[in-house]
Amino acid sequence: MSGTLEKKIPVLDLSPEIDELWDELNAAFQRVMKSGQFIMGPEVIAFENEVADYLGTKHAIGVNSGTDALVISLRALGIGPGDEVITTPFSFFATAESISNVGAKPVFVDIEEASFNIDPTLIEAAITERTKAILPVHLYGRPAEMDAIMAVANEHGLKVLEDCAQSFGARYHGQQTGTIGHAGAYSFFPSKNLGAFGDGGLIATDDDEVADMARMLRAHGSKKKYHNEVLGYNSRLDSLQAALLRVKLPHVDIRNRGRIVAAQHYETLFARTPSIVRPGATAGHVYHQYTVRLPDSDRNAIQRRLEEQGIGTMIYYPVSQNRLPVYDHQPAAITPVSDTLANQVLSLPIWAAQAVSDRERVASSLVEAVSHY
Ligand SMILES: *Cc1c(COP(=O)(O)O)cnc(C)c1O
Repeated sequence: MSGTLEKKIPVLDLSPEIDELWDELNAAFQRVMKSGQFIMGPEVIAFENEVADYLGTKHAIGVNSGTDALVISLRALGIGPGDEVITTPFSFFATAESISNVGAKPVFVDIEEASFNIDPTLIEAAITERTKAILPVHLYGRPAEMDAIMAVANEHGLKVLEDCAQSFGARYHGQQTGTIGHAGAYSFFPSKNLGAFGDGGLIATDDDEVADMARMLRAHGSKKKYHNEVLGYNSRLDSLQAALLRVKLPHVDIRNRGRIVAAQHYETLFARTPSIVRPGATAGHVYHQYTVRLPDSDRNAIQRRLEEQGIGTMIYYPVSQNRLPVYDHQPAAITPVSDTLANQVLSLPIWAAQAVSDRERVASSLVEAVSHY
């Protein structure tokens, strides 16, 4: 059969999960419609309690999106104008954007080639008297080196906010990501490991004051309606999203397990092709993405070739955040690893119930493509 006649393999297929939970999701939808309560309310409270239990955190605070979870966490941690926050350049724009949007300055520190995460050994040199926090990202679902990050933070009295948008359910030395630093910010964007049916996000923290402030900020800076205390946001979680997420939450570990099995399969399929650099197996990794590096190939040509064969791939991310026009006034940021990896990475199709034959087709196409380009 010619490549173009074969079924397309998207980069992500959410339909198996939705099909499996169809009746439960519909029941939750109808329950909310009949309740007449569409923003916050008992579904959100129940979801927050269930997530707090799952993560092992004292407070879980539902918000409008992962981006808002970052912004509100930063503000609740006391970060604002004049402050510097050390972060990774190799992430989705929201990571750095949230720092800028609270009036602080992102200070970019390069990443480790093997993990794609911030290199903890480079953090200390970037600390100034303005530094208030470190914002690591558990990119692709792989936990960042939290022991080393917390050690530098504690030594210098810095806050740590974990960007867990891609790491829901990932564990570092057995502990949930997002519960190791002072706060964790999660996203329920539909493609994330725990995805809603629209936007959604959550903040985890054990700190009562941070939790209090975050709860105020998400509701226009008020504890009591019409008695606004600070300038906040309209960033509440919808009842509908909470109700649907409550259906999915009990399945998240099984889904993540499916991703790990898929990643292990890819590892064996590429084991004999050294020009495809594999992410490898790391404890606690939940493979939001299975991202390979193609250091000796024309990555963009390979992506086009796979596209022609009906195979979807993504480039997360084609440019270091500090090279974007909004940040290019920061020439001091020297990030050779991030800059190099931005030209090499390719994220392959992965989801929990993906067919073995899909991965075999992706792998044979990629192995063939790297021999040509
Ligand atoms: C998705 C994502 C965000 C933003 O989450 P939204 O819910 O889309 O606002 C932040 N950081 C990272 C690393 C992400 O992948």
